[in-house]
Amino acid sequence: MEELAKTKQELERTKQELGILYEISNAMRTTLRLDEIFYIILTGVTAHIGLGFNRAMLFLVNEKDGLIEGKLGIGPETGEEANRIWNQIESEKMSMDDLINVYKFSHQALESGFNRQVRNLKFTSRGQNDSLLALSVLDGMPLHLTRETMQNYLNDPVIQLLKSQELVVAPLKSKEKVNGLILADNFVTKKPISKDDIRMLIMLANQAGLAIENSQLYEKTALRAHSDYLTDLWNHGYFQAILQSELEKARAAKTPLTLIMLDIDDFKVYNDSLGHQAGDSILKQLGALLKNQSRKMDYVCRYGGEEFTIILPGTEKKEAYLIAERLRQDIEKQGFIHEEILPQKKLTVSIGLAAFPENGLNPSELIAASDKALYQAKNKGKNNTATA
Ligand code: GH3
Ligand code: MG
Ligand code: MG
Repeated sequence: MEELAKTKQELERTKQELGILYEISNAMRTTLRLDEIFYIILTGVTAHIGLGFNRAMLFLVNEKDGLIEGKLGIGPETGEEANRIWNQIESEKMSMDDLINVYKFSHQALESGFNRQVRNLKFTSRGQNDSLLALSVLDGMPLHLTRETMQNYLNDPVIQLLKSQELVVAPLKSKEKVNGLILADNFVTKKPISKDDIRMLIMLANQAGLAIENSQLYEKTALRAHSDYLTDLWNHGYFQAILQSELEKARAAKTPLTLIMLDIDDFKVYNDSLGHQAGDSILKQLGALLKNQSRKMDYVCRYGGEEFTIILPGTEKKEAYLIAERLRQDIEKQGFIHEEILPQKKLTVSIGLAAFPENGLNPSELIAASDKALYQAKNKGKNNTATA
């Protein structure tokens, strides 16, 4: 009889576990946004109705730079904070769905001190080093650090930050490699980590690794679809989409926005004398210059042919004029191969700019206004900037 009761209990637990995994993997399928996927994963690891760990953090492998980077940490900084949050979840009877939706509407979890600390963590994954994370990525196997084995890692920077007494590390695997790690511990309750806890975490990590890979593939494809093949700048289609959405943001926040339109002077001469291919390599060089000399917040686009646009969110016309003039002078100073065959012996550009709201309220009005200003710049003798 006792056997039967035990079997029944185990069955009940398995059913519950499967239910949790099912809910989390469903949630992961609702989004392709990497940051949302991270949040869903760690909510699953930490929620009482999930795996129930006190704290969890997620790291991604950045192969290009040979780094393992902290992406998200969820967990209280103190026992009091933990109790407050857990009581709230308990009293509001929040389900996994509720918890995930909290993220979509407020970014409270992201503002926690713990998350900030995790996001600042970066470790090299290459070369000679025996850091806990690098070893785990290399090994690709889950690792359970108990109170005893923890002694070997007391100097590890991750352990120094977390001050865990017991910890589990689970690799996130894409089809062929380890693309990240989840770390989880019971920092507040000190509840021992059981075999079942680890088994659940591994199952969740397997799902999570694939979800992350999917999302990264999607982001890469989207990026390619929005980029211009020659210059790698944003292409015309994406320019239109960003201008539309940035104008909506500017309208809502009552902030300015300026559009710069830029056209190479006498480019036909260059192409006719040296050929289309030579022209193309100028476009590439110019595209790189524009990108390098622009601010991070600005969108540099290839509007078409030898015309470029730059969207400057939050920027008044006066300030944008200074930026445009600086770009124009940078181009004038830059050496371009065989530019001496041009009428002015130099490769130069003319620029027109128009600002929201004074010169146009929607994309087409703003484009028309900056195009008109560009025409004036050409009429004034080229190699200058005109404003709408
Ligand atoms: P302006 O100073 O008035 O701008 O004179 P322009 O000769 O530059 O005239 P326009 O702006 O109309 O430039 C069109 C020329 O630019 C035609 C073509 O020779 C060249 N061009 C346009 N698109 C491309 C391109 O994708 N690659 C290359 N190599 N040349 C292009
Ligand atoms: Mg042109
Ligand atoms: Mg031109």
